[in-house]
Amino acid sequence: MTPDSVALVTGAASGIGRAIALRYAREGFRVVVSDVDEAGGQETAQQIEEGGGGALFVLADVSDPAACEALVAGAVRAFGRLDVACNNAGIGGEQAPTADYPVEAWQRVLGVNLSGVFYGMKAQIPAMREAGGGAIVNVASILGQVGFASAPAYVAAKHGVVGLTKTAAIELAAEGIRVNAVGPAFIETPMISALEADPETLATLVGLHPAGRLGTPDEVAALVAWLSSDEASFVTGAYYPVDGGYLAR
Ligand code: NAP
Repeated sequence: MTPDSVALVTGAASGIGRAIALRYAREGFRVVVSDVDEAGGQETAQQIEEGGGGALFVLADVSDPAACEALVAGAVRAFGRLDVACNNAGIGGEQAPTADYPVEAWQRVLGVNLSGVFYGMKAQIPAMREAGGGAIVNVASILGQVGFASAPAYVAAKHGVVGLTKTAAIELAAEGIRVNAVGPAFIETPMISALEADPETLATLVGLHPAGRLGTPDEVAALVAWLSSDEASFVTGAYYPVDGGYLAR
């Protein structure tokens, strides 16, 4: 990276996305913070600026292809280039077995968690070509590798993100644009706060992780930062779990 390098993070108003945005800023990137949550996104950008970094908040719904285009255009207009993008925005969606899963909920989850990553990359790739290379990190999940009862849309979307990541990586490797995916297990963020609130459910979740605890957003951000950095210059098309051993069982 160079002193004028620019990183973009979707879903950066909260949880893992905010941790990634703050981490990018600490690494020296100017950071484009994006989310549908304007107040939270502005707060992330403010935290970066208070730490001495450069940040811009852009309101964008990743399930809208035009918004993804406008987000990248805004980033390039403000900072002149785009080097790194982390497609992190996602929703948990409803919980119901496949046979009972509402079609509308399926479409919403796929729209944000899978199409949102596709629309994001479609907009980001041309800007990275202009910059002479780049790195994309897509936030999948352990549920991009294994199933989970009553989460058919989420699991299908995250498996899709892993396949999309591998495909784009093959297409772009020779152009110096790397594309990787990370697979967090259960991480302490607002997304799972409802599950954590019930002590029995929390104990069951913790028990799924050989590490004996849930993960933190900073632990995911550390992996994303490495994959985004020149240290990972020969790493592309890969899926890296960050899961306290969840997938090793
Ligand atoms: P989070 O705290 O809920 O943060 C997600 C952020 O994305 C929120 O600010 C949310 O805004 C925003 N968002 C939702 N829909 C959006 C859209 N259409 N366009 C732009 N932004 C949108 O969740 P998190 O736990 O940090 O999750 C981040 C990513 O990690 C997701 O892709 C998730 O699937 C993945 N992940 C999380 C876990 C976990 O255990 N937490 C595990 C594996 C993978 P609102 O709050 O306004 O909806």
